[in-house]
Amino acid sequence: MITKISTTCFLLLLSLFARSQTHCGTLQPADGEPITDLSVAQNRDIITVSVLFHVVYNTDEQNISDSQILTQLDVLNEDFRAINDQTNVPVGFQDDVADAEIEFCLAQRLPDGTATTGIIRTPTTETIIGLKQVLYTTSPAADSEHYLNVWVADLGGGLNGTATFPGAATPDKDGIVIDPHFVGTTGLAAEETRYNLGRTLTHEIGHYLDLFHVFGTTSGGSCSSDDFVEDTPNGENTYLGDCPTGIEFSCNSSDMWMNFMYFTDDACMSMFSAGQKARMQNTLLTTRSGLAESNGCLPVSTREVEQANVTVFPNPAQNLFKILPADGKYDRLQIISGRGETVFFRNNIDVEITVDCTDFPRGLYFVILKNENENENERTVRRIILQ
Ligand SMILES: [Zn+2]
Repeated sequence: MITKISTTCFLLLLSLFARSQTHCGTLQPADGEPITDLSVAQNRDIITVSVLFHVVYNTDEQNISDSQILTQLDVLNEDFRAINDQTNVPVGFQDDVADAEIEFCLAQRLPDGTATTGIIRTPTTETIIGLKQVLYTTSPAADSEHYLNVWVADLGGGLNGTATFPGAATPDKDGIVIDPHFVGTTGLAAEETRYNLGRTLTHEIGHYLDLFHVFGTTSGGSCSSDDFVEDTPNGENTYLGDCPTGIEFSCNSSDMWMNFMYFTDDACMSMFSAGQKARMQNTLLTTRSGLAESNGCLPVSTREVEQANVTVFPNPAQNLFKILPADGKYDRLQIISGRGETVFFRNNIDVEITVDCTDFPRGLYFVILKNENENENERTVRRIILQ
């Protein structure tokens, strides 16, 4: 009897999905902790998250193009750096818009050090595989401590995407599943109307970094249900299938319906708040700190594979660190930040070098040693973290 009732409920849910698009299938925790120390959002360099897309396709159409995925990367890097179009943010919320200072790259190397394009394509005979456990063995997660794994897989036409909160899933299932119709802005996404601008993944990464829906933990929104963020007023509407143009009130305050963590149409979503930024940055310092320390964005070099004997110490470092090129002379030393900016450069290195890093923003850096007569792939790379 219990089984029969459950099956009936499931079919009822499926029929509801068939009638209306459900923006997000993420299972939110029943409760959350407010982040009280907003200073975590300061004094840090930009964090670049290494993303691996697993395209698991049953039809040629679902095997979306590299260019469709690249438009998704562009959307993420605009939304999380607050350089997207924010003209629909009402005056009352404009001071709350935050640059989350998080960027995303297509992974350049796999955990074992081999090169990748960041896009792994695997055919499957399964239909609607995005709702099945077999998804995770068809294209296994790669080191979900250091990589954001995004499975692009058929969710059956009713659901856009789903994510795992920090600590909510085992490593092999930690990440995001998104339907190919809602990736980026071109290809299949261009055939959509409401969810055609790549905001499904922006929203799901919000969950992945510990953000709740602004309307709270209930499915339909409630004034008594919080998102554990100070500067996002409680709301009792989800705005699913809606795209407001003016002030909307609920719960005795103006709703931040243009926040990425509502259910509004992609064209209406345009901001994270400062409190949400603090919450995401706190996650990158704690439960998902491995993402901030990953070298997945850095291309593989030949010399690195050969395990060249170069020592960088101490690591982590504070005010200075030393580079000891024990295996010979190098023509060029370059130190670049995790987001690709050169912060130090010197020619002709053959002895111990001391680098004063007092003025460098804290974060992950790459020490790159290279000889001019070697090709572009031949270089020695060491990671160092400044604290
Ligand atoms: Zn959601």
